[in-house]
Amino acid sequence: MTKSAFEKYLHAITAKAMCGDAVRRDELLAVLASNDDDLLDVIAAAGRVRRKFFGRRVKLNYLVNMKSGLCPEDCGYCSQRLGSTAEILKYSWIDVAEAARHARCAIDAGAKRVCLVAAGRGPSDRDIGWIAGTIAAIKESAPAVEVCVCLGLLKDGQADRLREAGADAYNHNLNTSAKNYAQICSTHTFDDRAATVAAAKSAELSPCSGAIFGMGESDDDIIDVALALRELQPDSVPVNFLIPFEGTPLGRNWELTPQRCLRILAMFRFAFPDVEVRVAGGREIHLRSLQPLALHVANSIFLGDYLTSEGQAAQDDRAMIADAGFVIEGVDEPTLPAERHDLVVTRHRGAGTSAAANT
Ligand code: SF4
Repeated sequence: MTKSAFEKYLHAITAKAMCGDAVRRDELLAVLASNDDDLLDVIAAAGRVRRKFFGRRVKLNYLVNMKSGLCPEDCGYCSQRLGSTAEILKYSWIDVAEAARHARCAIDAGAKRVCLVAAGRGPSDRDIGWIAGTIAAIKESAPAVEVCVCLGLLKDGQADRLREAGADAYNHNLNTSAKNYAQICSTHTFDDRAATVAAAKSAELSPCSGAIFGMGESDDDIIDVALALRELQPDSVPVNFLIPFEGTPLGRNWELTPQRCLRILAMFRFAFPDVEVRVAGGREIHLRSLQPLALHVANSIFLGDYLTSEGQAAQDDRAMIADAGFVIEGVDEPTLPAERHDLVVTRHRGAGTSAAANT
């Protein structure tokens, strides 16, 4: 595609996204396949969409790794997987007071959402009880904070129990396309993951689901997983870039460039114009000095450390946000644009009625 043809194409994609209309597969693919000469135009266009729905707000999320390592599943990207020799912290459930203390510090540092994560295939009923106690302790000290839970595959009734315990959201990522899924994991399937996201949504937990890139996937795989996510209608979409841990099967996959990461983020913004798009794991190591550009596209980041690796210093994250002209979203501010049901008026005139048509 020539430069001027791409500019026209980008203009049309942006107009669609600004109206909240679904951007087509071929359009998303064109964003992903665009070249470095067009990168700033792509970021500027995605930035217009971001500002329309989210202004200059950046939501901060904080991870608490409740139980680390020794997972029986074999996700190839994960340092906590079965057989991983990565030298990570390994521990069983931390106690409620410790989790609540970490959450309180993060909230004081600007986090609006606390994500309680535990390694494993899925929670036992006892685990759900443990998480329920932790949610209660966090909410007692900060009632307005959002608590998201990430415990793996859910069994019948567990999403309801989490909702009743006060969880606001549930995270379970699809990670890669259905076609590529068997390449990264053999102990559960893409459909298992999608079913858990659907179960969380049915239980009225805010669904959070995203993906990981840099695992050898093609552009088509990236679009496939983005479109599969769109069907699940998540409220938040974490975009992870592989953290290649030595001692895991993907430990040598250093295939991402900062430009590639920014194009992926921009494509997600066009695919999810009014949905929280979060730059998640791998932000620092893959975007490097271009991190501030990602803020023009995504409206959410993790503050502090990841599950098993360290992130940029929290004060540097806050300074980056301020330097780039953005503001941290407060706990009392809604993230998603308000629903405007008042604009949807049921037709009672014209065809099928005796009232005059709107002509
Ligand atoms: S991603 Fe989750 S389920 Fe997969 S190995 Fe890691 S902790 Fe286990």
